[in-house]
Parts: sequence; C-alpha cells; structure tokens
Amino acid sequence: MHPAIPHLIELQRVDHQIAVFRSELESFPKRIREADTKLTGARGEVASAKEALAQVASERRKFEFEAQEWKDRVRKYRDQSSAVKTNDAYRALQHEIANAEAEIAKAEDRQLEVMMKAEDAERRLKLADSRLKEADQSLAAEKKTMEAQAAEIKKKLEAAAAEREKIIAPVPEDLRDLYTRIAKRRGGTAMAQVRDEQCRGCGLRVLPHIVQELRSETSEEVYRCESCGLILYTLEPVPYAKPADGSANAASPASTN
Ligand SMILES: [Zn+2]
Repeated sequence: MHPAIPHLIELQRVDHQIAVFRSELESFPKRIREADTKLTGARGEVASAKEALAQVASERRKFEFEAQEWKDRVRKYRDQSSAVKTNDAYRALQHEIANAEAEIAKAEDRQLEVMMKAEDAERRLKLADSRLKEADQSLAAEKKTMEAQAAEIKKKLEAAAAEREKIIAPVPEDLRDLYTRIAKRRGGTAMAQVRDEQCRGCGLRVLPHIVQELRSETSEEVYRCESCGLILYTLEPVPYAKPADGSANAASPASTN
C-alpha cells in the first residue's frame, strides 16, 4: 500500500464529516422556514376569530335596529289610536300594535342569541390570541436553539477544515489531485476498503495479488477498483496472524517471539 494511503483514509474520514456538517448547516434556513409556518396557522385562527366577532357584531346591530324600528311604529300607532274616530280603525291599530310588539319580541330574542354567539366568538378570539402568543414564544425559543446548533456545527466545521489541512499536508500533489477528482465524481467518496477480498465501494472481487500488495508495507503502488474506480486500501495488514476465535485480545499460541 502506498505510504500516503493512511493519510488519504484520514482525509476521507474528515471529508465525510465536513460533508455532514455542511449539509446540516444548509438545512437550517429550511428548518427555520418550516418553524415559521406554525405561526401561519395560529395567525389564520386569530384572523378568522376576529372576522366571526365582526360578523356577530353586525348581526347584533341589525337586530337592534329592527327592534328600534318596531318600537317607533308602536309609538306612532299609539299616538294615532288616541285620535281615531271609529272602533274599526281603533281595532285595526290595536292589531298593528300587537303585531309590532311580536316583532319586537322576536328581534330581542335574536339579539339575545347573537349576544351569546358574541360571547363564544370573544372566547374563541381570546383562545386564538393566546395560542398565537404561545406559538410565537415557542418559535422564538426554537429559533434560538437552532441558531445555537448552527453555531456549534460551524465551529465543528472550522475545526474539521483545520484538521483537513494538517492531514493533507504530507500527501503528494498527484495523489491529492487523484483523490479530489474521484471524490468529486463519486459523491464525496474516493476511498474503498477491501474486506474479504471485496471492494466495499461496489462489491467487486479484488484479485488476491492486489490484496497482497495492499497489505504489503513496502508497496508504493496506488490501486483503484476496476469497477468503481475508488482508491483501494485494507485495514488488515497481517492476514496470517488472525486469531481463530476472532478475538483481538487473544494471545496468539503460534507466536514464537
Ligand atoms: Zn469497487
């Protein structure tokens, strides 16, 4: 394995971190917009409660006006009835008065109904107002949390970028270019681990002699997967000393040092 490969593995690790931080940062404006839409509902509820209240008030004025009109008529009929000459005319006026009084009673009943509706509408508006206030406060808190999160991620991103500079420093120019080219084409990934003689980038079998080369500490070659083009590496430098039970802590009985 080329001596720069361990640096490239580290570079890949930090580049993946940077990509995650970047996409998290990019998600904040959308998250803030989404949080804002919670207010839209609460604002709409307040507006419709206000509208309902205005509607009720106008109904109330209408019935008040009607009752007043009928009352005026009753007064007029009473004035007239003191001046009428015939019983028939008097009876006709009494009939009109009774009719007008029935209309007054009806209009007053309606006013009562409307007043009850007004109380409901006022309650509804009060509730909508307090819900809007709550939503406003919780949104402000949510935004504050998000801003703090974004600041935290920005800090991590800066640290990762600084770390990247250090990691990439010893990597030769041509390998940097190769890494960058592949990463750009392959969605930010340039490296693929070889495990069980398979490229973990695409699953293609890697030829045994290449696996041997990757494990060799003296090899200066850079190998790329024939199928996906990623730079291959292995984390299994000594294939023969693997403990049979797979435990890393087990002492090797075959060791003769
Ligand atoms: Zn591959």
